[in-house]
Amino acid sequence: MKVMERASAKINLALDVLGKRADGYHEVSMVMTTVDLADHIEIEETKREDIYIRATAPFVPEDERNLAYKAAALMKERFRIQRGLSIIIHKQIPVAAGLAGGSSDAAATIRALNRLWNLNLSTEEMMRLGTEIGSDVAFCVHGGTALATGRGEKIKGLPAPPSCWVVLAKPPVAVSTGNVYSALNLQAISHPNVQGMIQALREGSFENICRHLGNVLESVTIPAVPEVGQIKTLMKKLGADGVLMSGSGPTVFGLTQYESRAQKLVNSLKGFCGDVYAVRLIGRPS
Ligand code: ATP
Repeated sequence: MKVMERASAKINLALDVLGKRADGYHEVSMVMTTVDLADHIEIEETKREDIYIRATAPFVPEDERNLAYKAAALMKERFRIQRGLSIIIHKQIPVAAGLAGGSSDAAATIRALNRLWNLNLSTEEMMRLGTEIGSDVAFCVHGGTALATGRGEKIKGLPAPPSCWVVLAKPPVAVSTGNVYSALNLQAISHPNVQGMIQALREGSFENICRHLGNVLESVTIPAVPEVGQIKTLMKKLGADGVLMSGSGPTVFGLTQYESRAQKLVNSLKGFCGDVYAVRLIGRPS
């Protein structure tokens, strides 16, 4: 039997870092939401015992470093399943872009194996497994829109934002999330209003969502990758209502309620960087 699972990209509507913890992780407070750009994970059992993994895009590790591989290995071990697996990742989400591609692939693998092996795990149980793989995986299992605290693994669902267009633009640079967090100067950052963002979501106010967009990691990535600042300026000039870098970057997103404006943004940004998409917010768990 073959199972297919969708692995949606996420954007951060707000990303704050509150401090460094004794275990070396940062204490975060983030509002995340899923967008209609996704990898597709295809999994089937094989006659061998090992895990075979392939991805349809360059720069994705095809061995035990892949987060989908890690998820499968963890589940094989935890549930004592000896059967082998073939995992094909049909990659659409740009790699090392701040869109949680790897974490989402891991989450989709957990959901797919839950079905393939009839494990009957609840969403909470799958989220706990995800946390063993990476900080963003629990959110990717949950999906929709949520507040993530702790090191990113404590998830509280939030109302979906009003439907709108999201224009994503990624300059041709890969950013390492670990390096960005290490370079963050906690004394010098100005914190976004995460509570204001949560309130805006509860009100369903597109205007207030745009007003409260904020990401402390811009203070590291924008000086290092000037294209991020340039894309933000261009998106604002072209009429996006809200503009922000997602995660540790370098992808920038612009929000608009109008399809024609989203198209105008895509056409203008295409001359500036290759990876440009206009997608819809999903915002609700599937
Ligand atoms: P985040 O927003 O969670 O920080 P990201 O979008 O910035 O993630 P990813 O696309 O997940 O970054 O890739 C980061 C690195 O993880 C890649 O450079 C790659 O080496 C590694 N990686 C491991 N598994 C995957 C995967 N399934 N897809 C993409 N990259 C993966």
